Amino acid sequence: MKNILWASFVLVSLAALLTSQRHWVVFSLLAEGSPPELLAPMGEGENVRWHDDYFIVQILDPQTFAIGEPRYQQENFNYLILGSNRAILFDAGPGLRDIRPVAKELTDLPITFVPSHFHYDHIGNEITFDHVAVADLPHIRERAQGDELQLKWREHLGSAEGYDAPLLEIDEWLSPGTSLDLGERKLTILYTPGHTDDSISLLDSDAGYLFSGDFIYPGPLYAFLPNSRMGDYQQAAKNVLDVADSSVRIFGAHRMGPPGAPEQTLSDVSDLRRALNAIKTGELDGEGFYPVTYIVSPTMQILAEPSWLQDWGARYPEFGNGQN
Ligand SMILES: [Zn+2]
Repeated sequence: MKNILWASFVLVSLAALLTSQRHWVVFSLLAEGSPPELLAPMGEGENVRWHDDYFIVQILDPQTFAIGEPRYQQENFNYLILGSNRAILFDAGPGLRDIRPVAKELTDLPITFVPSHFHYDHIGNEITFDHVAVADLPHIRERAQGDELQLKWREHLGSAEGYDAPLLEIDEWLSPGTSLDLGERKLTILYTPGHTDDSISLLDSDAGYLFSGDFIYPGPLYAFLPNSRMGDYQQAAKNVLDVADSSVRIFGAHRMGPPGAPEQTLSDVSDLRRALNAIKTGELDGEGFYPVTYIVSPTMQILAEPSWLQDWGARYPEFGNGQN
């Protein structure tokens, strides 16, 4: 009897440990540990020019540029947004190549680097920027030592491709719901968590753009990672739908293929919200075990944990869009 009790205790403890460490286990199984081979260059259409053999540049308008990395396996897109006195570089890719000369060729304005979130494929890793601004969120701010923030494995995940979590020197904190003045151009900081709990998007209401990072893009949306949360994803969709105009052009950080930058519309966000609601109520079934794939639309899927592990709470329900 004693032996059975002991064996049950060990099994339950092991199951609890595996459940609590599941992200680490999954990552260890999937991680390559080094950067992937570059993809062959593809035709990118007339609106796109190759900066060199790695970066492409697409002019969205004379003040707004998509800087793509179509040969990187995750096909990242970063955005250079110009005002009259400063510029924002929203994301910097994995840092396989240095994006700074590409941005500097496009503007003489001082450039502030703003990561959409802290994952290794957005933060630029070994690249250091003169000026860095990040989302002002309690769990990030309280960890910062003065201006320095050491990223954690859970929020960086760089071990997947052999990157150490970097130390960021932060110059500016961006509060969700406030706007960033670039001079004759304002960007609203929207809190769009779900993929991670530190994700933000930038909304330019006047120009009609939403730069969405990994909150939304065509393809599989990752909602099963260490800092992912399904309830956060619902909040993000609401935050965007509350403030964005129906004609907004949405530019995400990854694409499924050429040509050029990934572009979506607000109806894609509506589709996402509908799918999330249906997953929550059990009306939408997924396929597979871990992650589970839920079909959102012909162009989007949500990769989530199995329903018994899904967390439908929100980390910061109070961070709406400033209009709640
Ligand atoms: Zn990403």
